[in-house]
Amino acid sequence: MNNESKTILGYPVTRPFLVSGPCGAESEEQVMQTAIELAKHPVNLIRAGIWKPRTRPNSFQGIGDIGLQWLKQASVVTGIPVTVEVSNSKHVEAALKAGIDVLWIGARTTVNPFTVQEIADSLHGVDVPVMIKNPVNPDLELWIGAIERIGKAGIKHIAAIHRGFSSYEKTIYRNRPNWEIPIELKRRMRDIPLLCDPSHICGKRELLLAVSQIAMDLNYDGLMIESHIHPDQALSDAKQQITPSQLGELLGDLICRSHSIDDILTLRMIEGLREKMDKLDFDMLDLIAKRMDIAKAIGQYKKENNITILQAERWDEIVQSRMQTGLEKQLDKGFVKKLFELIHQESITQQAEVMNKKVDVEVRNNQ
Ligand code: PEP
Ligand code: MN
Repeated sequence: MNNESKTILGYPVTRPFLVSGPCGAESEEQVMQTAIELAKHPVNLIRAGIWKPRTRPNSFQGIGDIGLQWLKQASVVTGIPVTVEVSNSKHVEAALKAGIDVLWIGARTTVNPFTVQEIADSLHGVDVPVMIKNPVNPDLELWIGAIERIGKAGIKHIAAIHRGFSSYEKTIYRNRPNWEIPIELKRRMRDIPLLCDPSHICGKRELLLAVSQIAMDLNYDGLMIESHIHPDQALSDAKQQITPSQLGELLGDLICRSHSIDDILTLRMIEGLREKMDKLDFDMLDLIAKRMDIAKAIGQYKKENNITILQAERWDEIVQSRMQTGLEKQLDKGFVKKLFELIHQESITQQAEVMNKKVDVEVRNNQ
């Protein structure tokens, strides 16, 4: 870790801003012991779910309002502020009444603009920091919309939490990271600190370090990692929780690289490489434009000879040969496939335009 200090959610911190604590508050003892152990590490905020949004009705639904007192007590003993998940205005009211320091909106709530608005309305005139998780589905606009709603309520300190996206397909992740979505969020909302929740992305503790490291390398501001004094006995999300001392080990292994380049030699090297990269990007655009011109010329022949645009065998041949060459050049097969699908889709659009324009012209000429 390194010492780049700034303010996150109104708290002066060094990167990464660290939120940790159990998935759910289960007993007074579990909350207190976890908090006392967490206080031995650079934890900025202690978390625990009190009202748990669970997929099935017979799972542990959270301990309810009593957990707020346990958390507050843990905060008094450790001196670390605390945060809970709120999913409606009643939760907000109870959390604020109990003096909870920071609120967070969970992934299942961010999906629903009505609920986010209800929470925003209950926050009018209140000065409490709010963290907003991405919606369960990969919809950036919904995430931005939730951030805007809370911002419009007058909340000054807002952070976004990336916890991954659910997908029907089975992957190694519990929730696919889709890194491009939080990256685009950061581009569009520069001032919103971005935290990563590797626990809900991974679903299993073995992957936590690797995903946390990616987040740090992408210059995330912080991490939310679930920890429990006895993870295997946890009433929810047992497989992804770690003990506070395992959290300490993870932090020790985490390399927190600097965002700014201070060393002049390194800076020159990187600038030189970036120049080369910029040139290649423009060369690529030139090549793609030339390829599109050829596609349009082919479209013209197809039009004149009454041939369909889509020729499945030709497309199959393109995908196979490009993927094979890509492999020889150490390019990922999936990446090459996606790239050519995109290029092919655009060729089809261009050819369709050539054909339809022609039709338009003929129609106009016949009028
Ligand atoms: C949680 O943080 O325990 C939780 C319920 O997370 P999410 O909203 O990301 O599913
Ligand atoms: Mn959880």
